[in-house]
Amino acid sequence: MNFKIYGKNAEAATALVLKRISNIESKMSVNVKTSEISKLNAKAGVSGQKLSEDTYSVIEKSVQYSKLTGGALDATIEPIVGLWGIGTDKERVPSKTEISDKLKLVNYKDIVLDKKNLTVKLKRTNQAIDLGAIAKGYTADEVKKVLLNNKISSAIINLGGNVYAIGSNPNGKDWNVGIQNPLSTRGEYLGTISVTDKSIVTSGNYERFFIKDGIRYHHIFDPKTGYPAQQSLISTTIVSEKSVDGDALSTSTYIMGLDKGLKLVESIKGVEAIFVTKDKKVYVTPGLKDNFKLTSKEFTYEKGR
Ligand code: ADP
Ligand code: MG
Repeated sequence: MNFKIYGKNAEAATALVLKRISNIESKMSVNVKTSEISKLNAKAGVSGQKLSEDTYSVIEKSVQYSKLTGGALDATIEPIVGLWGIGTDKERVPSKTEISDKLKLVNYKDIVLDKKNLTVKLKRTNQAIDLGAIAKGYTADEVKKVLLNNKISSAIINLGGNVYAIGSNPNGKDWNVGIQNPLSTRGEYLGTISVTDKSIVTSGNYERFFIKDGIRYHHIFDPKTGYPAQQSLISTTIVSEKSVDGDALSTSTYIMGLDKGLKLVESIKGVEAIFVTKDKKVYVTPGLKDNFKLTSKEFTYEKGR
């Protein structure tokens, strides 16, 4: 995580931001045994788990995006994520049988939401939820709330691929945000966008992956196959008001691919995208035309379709 927070109240506000982030992590992380998500997963097929409003709303949002993306985003992907173990010391290529067995457990329609009681139940034993595709976006939105409540009107926060540019920069101008070049190491940019008060979320195959026999296996899975999503895209960036929407959409458009992804983004008001394909083309939706500058010579700019 990386923050730049400006103003008289910055130090006190930063402490509150860190507190809020730990609070969300303690509720939603699958890696925290006592989290609400871990408790919910442990009760799968048996009973429901009472949740905080935070966790409930993120699960609800995830289900909405599952419907909108034809199941590309699916929070019940956890058994597949656990099987591949990408980014852990257990990462490996599982057998086809292992994958098809675990894939049977993946289905967002088995998430039973009870809004009145803030309770969620998974229908079948061994099913499990992983909010990794969307929780960082929710967190960025909550960080923004904390900052605004503490009279901060200029800040830029980066939760590892989720950037929120709050207000304008200390000189009263747009923020300039670099978009990671998906083909090179961290810190090298493909281009920049200038924004005020916007979330910028990027998903890509360069974040967490391993290479086996020359094949790159990364951490964004296609719920239809149980394998890392194999598409024309190597990175998807979503620019939006709310980071939870940007996070859900960057992951799901990555899985859906260029054509379906562009169509989806263009159908949602206030949401713009920058997609990068394997053959080094950069697609930018019309609403970002004046804000995006391609700076890397490795890539070519595609104007619309
Ligand atoms: P990052 O964590 O790198 O910012 P994403 O927002 O794209 O990236 O989320 C990737 C994470 O989401 C994975 O690590 C995994 O926990 C989870 N995930 C992977 N595939 C899916 C999917 N199809 N639907 C929902 N969550 C997924
Ligand atoms: Mg995401």
